[in-house]
Amino acid sequence: MALLQISEPGKGTLPHEHRLSVGIDLGTTNSLIASVISGKATILEDTSQTPIMPSIVHYGEQGILVGHEAEKMQLLDPKNTVASVKRLMGKDIKDINPNDFTVQLGGGDGTISIHTQQGIKNPVETSALILKNLKELSEKRLGGEIIGAVITVPAYFDDAQRQATKDAAKIAGINVLRLINEPTAAAVAYGLDKKVEGNFVIYDLGGGTFDISILRLEKGLFEVLATHGDSALGGDDFDHIVEQWVTEDLNAEIPDIKTKQLIKNLSRKIKEGLTEKDEISVDETFAGLGAIKKTLSREKFASLSAGLTNKTIACIKQALHDANLTTNDITGVVMVGGSTRMPIIQLAVEKFIGMPLLNNINPDEVVALGAAEQANILAGNTNDELLLLDVIPLSLGIETMGDIVERIIPRNSTLPVAMGQEFTTYQDGQTGMVIHVVQGERDLVKDCRSLGKFTLKGIPPMVAGAAKIRVTFQVDTDGLLSVKAKELSTGIESSIEVKPSYGLEDKHIQQMLESSFSSAEEDKESRALAEIKVDGKQIIAMIESALEQDKNLLNQDEVNHIYAMVHELTKALAASDRALIEEKTKLLNEATATFAARRMDNSISKALTGKTINTLEF
Ligand code: ADP
Ligand code: MG
Repeated sequence: MALLQISEPGKGTLPHEHRLSVGIDLGTTNSLIASVISGKATILEDTSQTPIMPSIVHYGEQGILVGHEAEKMQLLDPKNTVASVKRLMGKDIKDINPNDFTVQLGGGDGTISIHTQQGIKNPVETSALILKNLKELSEKRLGGEIIGAVITVPAYFDDAQRQATKDAAKIAGINVLRLINEPTAAAVAYGLDKKVEGNFVIYDLGGGTFDISILRLEKGLFEVLATHGDSALGGDDFDHIVEQWVTEDLNAEIPDIKTKQLIKNLSRKIKEGLTEKDEISVDETFAGLGAIKKTLSREKFASLSAGLTNKTIACIKQALHDANLTTNDITGVVMVGGSTRMPIIQLAVEKFIGMPLLNNINPDEVVALGAAEQANILAGNTNDELLLLDVIPLSLGIETMGDIVERIIPRNSTLPVAMGQEFTTYQDGQTGMVIHVVQGERDLVKDCRSLGKFTLKGIPPMVAGAAKIRVTFQVDTDGLLSVKAKELSTGIESSIEVKPSYGLEDKHIQQMLESSFSSAEEDKESRALAEIKVDGKQIIAMIESALEQDKNLLNQDEVNHIYAMVHELTKALAASDRALIEEKTKLLNEATATFAARRMDNSISKALTGKTINTLEF
């Protein structure tokens, strides 16, 4: 893969011109903000002297609370407390499980509505409150206004989710210098770009998401070779495992949300306790449930959660496969996210890769620190050049005849990227062309995700295949796509910014990827079948129009024979037998060979009629 150099605005500035910038890790569970102070990336602490702010918003009767204050309200007023809002960003109600949330959720028009005593709110404005809180905190700490921020998102965030994040920043009054992938930010914090060369795995297991990135370092530059992950896998799932263990012997149903929340908190505490201790004992009494008295050992927890741990290892394998590497090619592994503190995770990853892990930077802070370093560069405070290269997670293409996808930008292409391809018209005199943009790895449109459609109008009427339409796809450094179609002879063009309707769950991306690996053979066959069907239909259309014009060149028997062959092919096209369609197409071609020859002669003699010998050139 070619290395792209991203040129950055604003070269080095004088020290007194230092422009304040921040890096923001907008997490599912927790959010952090950092800034480069005296040349060093530093986490900015809030007044409670805790660097980590829970990503929680409480819509109270009296007002809105964010962070630690809101976290307290989770128990007291769960119905008006929004946690894990990141999971709702860029989604539709049908993509999520409303039972995972203590607030009442609605929607159906492509977004999600959050029902609170303060009225109906949406995920973007809720997320904006978290961002605004962080921004205010940073301006207080830094003593001035920030000119911009780098905000991190999971590598698997699709266009809609990235766009929703940008929208939230806009509402919060933050100028987004760039959105970058969380694992990429972590790599910067470890200064991997300053090493000589190598391949690195970035393993990020947070509260609700899991990301794997494979980075290649060469001559001080690095490139993201592959990304993989699962946005529905994180520390929360380990909490659920403990929760099941806590409640497995209970006869009664958990009476209310508050008790449910208490048990949830207890389960998380047990899980986190097992990071330090070999076993944790519970001895608690819950109103309406009675006493829970039992002990969980680290071994037992390891075996209960082995399924989750193995799932993350399978993701590493897939990412290595995508990057064309084996564990032997790996020079280091960076651990990111609070959940990588768990010994079971550390052991499993270390064992799989076969080397000690890079884990000496606080795994909660590493993403925000890296983002701050990049923000500092983007703000023009250094002479460093930023050479971060991210990749697109799924291939992008357009629909062509026969519902086949023509890939324009392959998956894992580095950003920013622009690629184009020429297409042509299918019918004589065609003056419009629908450009249907799709995302996914499969060959047929129905197996991919539709991102949007637009029409290029005003193509001058020409015979089929004569018009030249260049379709260009451009994905910017934030991962947002714009598509342009241009008819080359006239220069007319049409374009769209793809801001897809919010609503693709990363789980779907995962499924789409998995199904593409298992269906490569099936796809090849479907594609071949679809292609031959298009050819067959085109031949029939051509013959029918030729018959209309020049039937007089044939006798009745010949006409009947051709119609019979057309009928045979039409019948074959309705079924899905490739060999049969091939055979019938061949027969039809043979049946029309003489007809074609006579038409050719005829058109030549037509061209000659009426012309005198003098005007003819030989
Ligand atoms: P996110 O990126 O999703 O906001 P974080 O990286 O902040 O998440 O990680 C939060 C997760 O880390 C939670 O599930 C939390 O329980 C877990 N975690 C934090 N500290 C520990 C610990 N000492 N042992 C185990 N898990 C921990
Ligand atoms: Mg995180």
